[in-house]
Amino acid sequence: MLRVTEIYKSIQGESTFAGLPCAFVRLTGCPLRCAWCDTEYAFYEGVSMSIPEVLDRVERLGTCLVEITGGEPLAQKDCPALAQALLSAGWQVLVETSGALPIHVLPAAAIKIMDLKCPGSGECEKNDFSNLEHLTSRDELKFVIADRADYEWARDVVRERELWKKVAAVHFSPVLDRLAPHKLAEWILADGAPVRLQLQLHKLIWQPDRRGV
Ligand code: SF4
Repeated sequence: MLRVTEIYKSIQGESTFAGLPCAFVRLTGCPLRCAWCDTEYAFYEGVSMSIPEVLDRVERLGTCLVEITGGEPLAQKDCPALAQALLSAGWQVLVETSGALPIHVLPAAAIKIMDLKCPGSGECEKNDFSNLEHLTSRDELKFVIADRADYEWARDVVRERELWKKVAAVHFSPVLDRLAPHKLAEWILADGAPVRLQLQLHKLIWQPDRRGV
């Protein structure tokens, strides 16, 4: 069984899949407390659902793409089984994860969109760098950047570990209302950093605090 906060359809707002219609399965709970978290409503409550019930809800949304997110989806032991069930039923599956819990439990065919937490999140020490060994050229990395110190930390991690060679894309995403996108763009350009500036598309389309989009 799974604890589920919400299941809905929207435009994928992040990653190289941005712009595509996507079903989102938001699992409940997260062991982290990032300073800028925008999904605190997913920390508690939710409803109990079986994997067939989740598949039925996703089926009715009519998308080819589905993302399992949270909270931290890997905090639930049945998350890998859900990913496999969705893959077996024919969906392209993304799993968005904090990078703090082991990702090798996920099926290889699931595309991992993994965070590395910068110092400004307050959760930097939770990064499990051994997860990097389990990422493939189909997976993606995301750094959420709150300020210049975060940027320099992320830039140096990407350079020292040559992360752009390991994954399909490395995204640098500014914290909404904390860091102006043009500043982050200028820093990336000045350094020639091999990363993508990522703005959260769904927050540009709809009100940034709106749920279910
Ligand atoms: S890992 Fe994600 S859900 Fe958990 S506190 Fe950080 S931003 Fe929020």
